[in-house]
Amino acid sequence: TPKVGVLALQGDFREHLAVLTGLGADAVPVRRARELDQVQGLVIPGGESTVMDKLSRAFGLREPLQERIVDGMPVYGTCAGLIMLSDRVLDALPDQRTLGGLDVTVRRNAFGNQLDSFETDLDVAVLGAPPVHAAFIRAPIVEEVGPAASVVAALGDGRVVAVQQGNLLGTSFHPEITGETRFHEHFLRLL
Ligand code: GLN
Repeated sequence: TPKVGVLALQGDFREHLAVLTGLGADAVPVRRARELDQVQGLVIPGGESTVMDKLSRAFGLREPLQERIVDGMPVYGTCAGLIMLSDRVLDALPDQRTLGGLDVTVRRNAFGNQLDSFETDLDVAVLGAPPVHAAFIRAPIVEEVGPAASVVAALGDGRVVAVQQGNLLGTSFHPEITGETRFHEHFLRLL
């Protein structure tokens, strides 16, 4: 079994480790470059992208992560993890940087205070039936999908909430907290 990492600097990495372990994967937390060297794929969890960005720089992980992404390692980002994988971010903090890789523009906290958190069912063609029960928590929206990336799921009003580009997968929502395992299975198939 391939070893998969979950970036464990901040956020809901424990939930991702539990889902991956439940699927039979050899899943380990990644906080150091030498731990990143040992994994064949990586999940970047939800949390706070500004903090994750700062910590990835403080832990000397930013450059190693970017190298692995460019090398084609499968990476799945949820919520803040999707922001970290995006090439362009709206409503970012002034000094906020992302790792990049996905040719998309995301807007942070796109649902505003009125609709901070909500759950909904999403049709996801690559996963088939039944619909995905998705939890959105101060979630980003993908406002622009560049030519290199593809839409994987959208809300009923057309707003894009899941994208893929080669081995990079990103969702605005958190399948790891609703008992949904098919996105993680889809990610593990990329390994
Ligand atoms: N709002 C957070 C950010 O900008 C993301 C929230 C989440 O990951 N649930 O990073």
